[in-house]
Amino acid sequence: MSALLKRRFEEPVYKVTIDAGFTCPNIDGSKATGGCTFCDNTSFSPALRKGEPDIARQIENGAKFYRERYQARKFLAYFQTYTNTYDSVERLEKLYGDALNQRDIVGMSVGTRPDCIDAPKLRMFQKFAEQRPEQLICIEYGMQTMHDVTAQRVNRAHDHAETVRAVELTRQEAPDVHLCLHIISGLPGETPEMIRQSIDELARLQPDSIKFHHCYVFENTVLAREWREGRYEPPSLEMHVQLAADCIERMPPTTAIQRLIGEISAKGVLAPMWGKSKMQVVQMISDELRRRGTHQGCRWKPL
Ligand code: SF4
Repeated sequence: MSALLKRRFEEPVYKVTIDAGFTCPNIDGSKATGGCTFCDNTSFSPALRKGEPDIARQIENGAKFYRERYQARKFLAYFQTYTNTYDSVERLEKLYGDALNQRDIVGMSVGTRPDCIDAPKLRMFQKFAEQRPEQLICIEYGMQTMHDVTAQRVNRAHDHAETVRAVELTRQEAPDVHLCLHIISGLPGETPEMIRQSIDELARLQPDSIKFHHCYVFENTVLAREWREGRYEPPSLEMHVQLAADCIERMPPTTAIQRLIGEISAKGVLAPMWGKSKMQVVQMISDELRRRGTHQGCRWKPL
């Protein structure tokens, strides 16, 4: 993805993360309570939300860091925290518009759940894409798995049919919006074969880009309790490398790969402890593809 952004904007583009104060239907009780079992529950309380509520100031503070450290000049506003379409069209339009109007912002990426989107919201995304063709307008859905049994086990509170519906609706109502899907390797109860099935389903949906994470155990989560009680085993480094290589082979050649790994050393991560940096893991994945003599798309099966 950074290559895609660099090509389009002719220089590196840095993501500035925004916390716009959203919550999630899987937390506030409208779909479920407690959130996904891997989600960081301590930060559910508004009192514990960090940061600056003013979007312009959040962007300026984030951009300042990259300007000083990397001489960065272009930025993507990243609505990452919680479910960033979980509000009225009017409020969303105001928030996104404010972000897109900030200095040196070349686009935005909005992370959300597939059950928190509808046609009016997507038409609003499409309007931004049409009115601002020079900016990248991206929406990211957490698919995570195609297996409803896993979704239930991790208290995801939506099923795979809702992801498929969200993808189809996005293509229909917002054809100029960049569509990114996320999946996770190593969710509780999933075998490598089940993960490969989700990868194939992801490829069938043909997103513009993907994020492939491994499941990690964060402190104060339900998953942390299951891990401590020996009821959850995080994925091994070897397994994740193999599955990431499988994922690359099976993705359409036109799908950009934004991420191949979740958090490994952030504060609060309890497991797995692989003893490698993100760069080293990405290098291992690329070494694995070299060893196999394969490349992106070589096992993709067009419909
Ligand atoms: S959908 Fe996202 S924000 Fe909501 S509980 Fe799950 S991981 Fe957390």
